[in-house]
Amino acid sequence: WRTINISGRSKDELYQMGSTYNRMIERLKESFHKQEQFVSDASHELKTPLSVIKSYTQLLERWGKSRPEVFDEATHAINTETERMSYMIQQMLDLAKNEQKENLQFEHVNLIPMLQDCIRAFTVTYKRKIKFSSDFDQLELSCDREKMNQLFYILIDNACKYSQEDVNVTVDHVDGLVKVDIQDFGEGIAEQDVERIFDRFYRVDKARSRETGGTGLGLPIAQFIARSHGGEISVVSEEGNGTVFTVSIPH
Ligand code: ADP
Repeated sequence: WRTINISGRSKDELYQMGSTYNRMIERLKESFHKQEQFVSDASHELKTPLSVIKSYTQLLERWGKSRPEVFDEATHAINTETERMSYMIQQMLDLAKNEQKENLQFEHVNLIPMLQDCIRAFTVTYKRKIKFSSDFDQLELSCDREKMNQLFYILIDNACKYSQEDVNVTVDHVDGLVKVDIQDFGEGIAEQDVERIFDRFYRVDKARSRETGGTGLGLPIAQFIARSHGGEISVVSEEGNGTVFTVSIPH
């Protein structure tokens, strides 16, 4: 016997449909909640540079014409904060765009020269030694060139920002995975913070991160890029001794 309802479905089938619906609704609710949280965090983050701009504008209105030193300080601060805001907005847009997987443009990319170019750029910017080691001259990866570049750019930039010493970038190929280690010998990250650094807008030291122009969006973007290529970023860190970020991408 099977109980047939009006639409011709059995009780079991209806029950299954019901639980699939419930799961879908739960997922929708969750993603809606995440969006809400993102909008609220983003507004909060944008308020800080805006209020600095407002204060300096008021200062300019009051003293700008009579005191050149106030004029210089205020215009400099307004410029810095405006740049920070546009960088943050650009990163937010990147994050939103990344979430549409169909945006990825896969092509065969030789990872070695890509990393070497990236390292060369940072060596000039930070005037720091970045040591590159690889047993391969050629390592072809099917990936979105621009996004992969962005991922390494974020991690090498962080390694330089959060340390004063040399940085090591090492490429390896293990068990069907391309592994790139980005190692610094800087301040490291405390255990309780390690699990949160991939959260949007999370910064261990907000004030310091502001000084270096940080937004707390770099690592979430990098992790998103790695995952959209079927990979992952992991981190091992010791406070006071440095950090190793490892990017693993299937090859
Ligand atoms: P930010 O723009 O602040 O650098 P990220 O998302 O790239 O944002 O990183 C989040 C936080 O993780 C940083 O603010 C910093 O506190 C910490 N962090 C990231 N990379 C490193 C590193 N190599 N060494 C120490 N701390 C790091």
